[in-house]
Amino acid sequence: MNYERDKDRFKTLIMAVAVEKRAQQHVDTALLRLMFDALADVDIEDLERVRKAVCLKTRYFPQAGEWLEEVDKLPPPTVLGLLPPRADEHGQVTFCEACKDTGWILKDRLDGGAPNASKCTCRATNPALGAGKRKKLAHERSET
Ligand SMILES: [Zn+2]
Repeated sequence: MNYERDKDRFKTLIMAVAVEKRAQQHVDTALLRLMFDALADVDIEDLERVRKAVCLKTRYFPQAGEWLEEVDKLPPPTVLGLLPPRADEHGQVTFCEACKDTGWILKDRLDGGAPNASKCTCRATNPALGAGKRKKLAHERSET
């Protein structure tokens, strides 16, 4: 997780669990920060994914270690890098068909407004989304 990017989402997740465990009075900024640091190596998506399992696991407000145990049980993400990438007729290689390696899936809105963007599940493993490449790809796409 990245503190600046994910802190609000992390807080929402932890507070939701705290409410479920009737422990919200124990959760303050200091505790949130401690938990964030303890779980900093984990993706926020994975934490959200194991939320239910973590809540079922303990009667009380789950500790960082209990979150980590559940995250360890997650199946490994599909390793897109091991799949042969597909090249289109222009020789453009696409690892993820769903988002065309942009990391975002755009959904048209019924009211005709600007489309909603949601994160693609390939983000953690898509080699096309490595540092620096995201920008380059978006740039190349805008030219074709
Ligand atoms: Zn994707």
